[in-house]
Amino acid sequence: MAEETIFSKIIRREIPADIVWQDDLVTAFRDISPQAPTHILIVPNILIPTVNDTLPEHEQALGHLITVAAKIAEQEGIAGDGFRLVINCNRHGGQEVYHLHMHLLGGRPLGPLLS
Ligand code: IMP
Repeated sequence: MAEETIFSKIIRREIPADIVWQDDLVTAFRDISPQAPTHILIVPNILIPTVNDTLPEHEQALGHLITVAAKIAEQEGIAGDGFRLVINCNRHGGQEVYHLHMHLLGGRPLGPLLS
């Protein structure tokens, strides 16, 4: 069994977070250290540590990350100007929290992808 992270506690509302969306499959909350005016993490409610651990039965939740991202972008007023969705995987991908999550970043021009 994969080890839980702080994100499981946020999903279960055991610790505070600025949750902007929650349904049966995913939870979205504002990043504690925002890298853009809008920086929201969209997280499957079930613990999948990394993209490497995804299975066919996760596809509904994983696809839902994107449709929820579009709804939140609309809600945040950044859909028209655009935004970026990012999923980091493992060390070279810059992953720090081992509960798969998608970053939704926007509210300013984001520049080149890689640094
Ligand atoms: P990663 O590098 O893709 O794993 O991103 C992890 C993100 O989680 C970082 O942007 C952190 O700022 C964010 N983060 C870590 N702990 C918390 C928290 O307790 N609440 C909200 N965001 C968090």
